[in-house]
Amino acid sequence: MSKLRFHAIKESLAIKPVQVEENVRRSEIFGKNVFNENTMRQYLTKDAFNGVMSAVSHGKKIDRSIADQVSSSMKDWALSKGVTHYTHWFQPLTGTTAEKHDAFFETIEGGMAIERFGGDQLVQQEPDASSFPSGGIRNTFEARGYTAWDPTSPAFIYGTTLCIPTIFIAYTGEALDYKTPLLRALHAVDNAATAVCRYFDKNVKKVTSSLGWEQEYFLVDKMLAASRPDIILTGRTLLGHSSAKGQQLDDHYFGAIPTRAFNFMRELETECMLLGIPVKTRHNEVAPNQFELAPIFEEANLAVDHNSLLMDIMGRVASRHNFKVLFHEKPFAGMNGSGKHNNWSLSTDTGVNLLAPGKTPMSNLQFLTFFINTIKAVRENEELLRAAIASASNDHRLGANEAPPAIISVFIGEQLTKVLEELEGVTKGKLSPQEKTELKLNVVGKIPDVLLDNTDRNRTSPFAFTGNKFEFRAVGSIANCGNPMTVLNTIVAKQLKDFKVEVDALIDKKDLKKDEAVFNVLREYIKSSRDILFEGNGYGEAWELEAKKRGLSNNKTTPEALKAKISEKSIALFEDMQVMSKIESEARYEIEMEAYCMHIQIEGRVLGDIARNHIVPTAVKYQNILIENVKGLKEIFEEKFRSVSKEQINLIEEISSHIEGINSNVTKMINARRKANAIDDIEKKAMSYCNKVKPLFDDIRYHCDKLELLVDDDIWPLTKYRELLFTR
Ligand code: ADP
Ligand code: MG
Repeated sequence: MSKLRFHAIKESLAIKPVQVEENVRRSEIFGKNVFNENTMRQYLTKDAFNGVMSAVSHGKKIDRSIADQVSSSMKDWALSKGVTHYTHWFQPLTGTTAEKHDAFFETIEGGMAIERFGGDQLVQQEPDASSFPSGGIRNTFEARGYTAWDPTSPAFIYGTTLCIPTIFIAYTGEALDYKTPLLRALHAVDNAATAVCRYFDKNVKKVTSSLGWEQEYFLVDKMLAASRPDIILTGRTLLGHSSAKGQQLDDHYFGAIPTRAFNFMRELETECMLLGIPVKTRHNEVAPNQFELAPIFEEANLAVDHNSLLMDIMGRVASRHNFKVLFHEKPFAGMNGSGKHNNWSLSTDTGVNLLAPGKTPMSNLQFLTFFINTIKAVRENEELLRAAIASASNDHRLGANEAPPAIISVFIGEQLTKVLEELEGVTKGKLSPQEKTELKLNVVGKIPDVLLDNTDRNRTSPFAFTGNKFEFRAVGSIANCGNPMTVLNTIVAKQLKDFKVEVDALIDKKDLKKDEAVFNVLREYIKSSRDILFEGNGYGEAWELEAKKRGLSNNKTTPEALKAKISEKSIALFEDMQVMSKIESEARYEIEMEAYCMHIQIEGRVLGDIARNHIVPTAVKYQNILIENVKGLKEIFEEKFRSVSKEQINLIEEISSHIEGINSNVTKMINARRKANAIDDIEKKAMSYCNKVKPLFDDIRYHCDKLELLVDDDIWPLTKYRELLFTR
């Protein structure tokens, strides 16, 4: 095995950066492989174009004759670019993307063949994808799942395949993917937010949710990664002693990007440009070999698709540059983990960002309405929001000693805190003319000014307001953003809907003016949401205690956190907003709990295997060398033997004790797994994996990592942290 390590190191050192040609302007190639508005204008008849556009903007159904025209034009366009196959591209609940390619090619009478792609094939397919998780919704033998075209996310070409973004649902209508509930949530937030906007501007007809994600990742040399079974099978290192030099010096963060990684980024960005993914920012992150990439924000559904697509492409481009890209939230113990900040906002079809302060008191009141309603939505649903980002891998960040904590809180900065305090003092009921003027001039009117110097950024907050958007920072780097975006948009939709009802009631029954009613309801919201606001250090123990007093949840592990998904309140919320039925909510809970168990199970198996079959034999081998050495010393020394062999004998003993530590803990872990596997109830099973199996990982790792420090480097089988982190 150590042969593999040294072979890998040798190979990786010989690798030269792959040259990348970049001789066209990015703006020229942007969206070239996308069947976007511009392409559609060229390829579609006016009717077909209008049909698709009204489906995109107003969710209108596309009728069959139009679908036929669209498919035929899509095919012509694709063929002109050398495409041979098409696929429905979807995001099942496995967390990856799925595709099943079919050729355009079809045979016809007379031994001839043509290229064909009809409306039928564009609109709907039955991929018989019966092995995807369904949480019991779809019995494999009685109902099939099918995919259906999502015209709001444009088709694109990757390689020689035309990819059509689709939803994936059971024959009986239940969602089996991330996209379906997201589209429903976006629809809900559009309805609720548009209704509220009309208080301020009657021209608003649509509100769109925007998402700008920031993707963190690690790049590890491909050969070195391949030499580690844990990286290959689990996406992270399950053991490995820390490197003497890690991130202590902060010399990687924002440093000059290493050439190999830089060339990878350039090629990746070119691919992104062709696919219309508007990537803009790239830089080194805190840990060695950790990087970040961020696009310009987009409509949320498209942004989610683009993030999923990006993760796919990154894997492929990385391979061409002899890298393996790691999206795991914590690939290396003791190093910074990776996250995926979700920057979120709402904007109107009249071009107003509802989470950006405006220029007039009225537009600022609108801003405050959306700002405070979002805070209130988070206050009411913090536990559900926590559940939306729960996974076995994200547990290594949330609730471990790393950003952000498992407690959801909202950071808004000193200035806006002051504004909220002032609003809290607004008189109940009707306002005097003086109070109104005072509010408009000195509270609501001053917001843009105060925000300009609101530069404090609290990095420990899981949900922070950053000037013109909220930044949900607790999302995991490997996660599909669809899940957190569905929850966030749903809770805000529900909140805005309730807000509208309350304001209308004050206007109708208490005879308040519109702005008075808005002030009155907001005042109460500020009071009832105060507990979610937190400006201090989110990592501190003091905050844990404080949060407990405030009644905020602190679910540190996935099985605890996920329970919120099937609380009566959550199920009712999703039903009420028509985002998910009870069956769908319950199915998702099952699937995620099951996935949790599976991840821990796989990690346990891999760790047990490495510890017993790689580490222990190596330790024994080294111990034998020491024993030979001691025997030799005994032959040549008589009186001095004890003193000259003392250290070796200590080492022999120490190695034995670590071998014992590994073997006994691996045995314990196997037994714990057996017990967990025998449990039918998914909640108890996941708890058992979490509390009985997983803690043994640390004990096993402890002994393995100690041995790494004792055993001769020459025979150590696993590529070490310093080699993984500093080869570039
Ligand atoms: P950071 O300082 O956290 O790196 P940036 O200001 O660079 O943040 O922006 C990060 C992300 O936020 C980018 O993807 C950007 O496109 C996105 N973003 C900016 N404005 C908005 C907005 N109004 N809605 C959603 N995302 C936004
Ligand atoms: Mg950020």
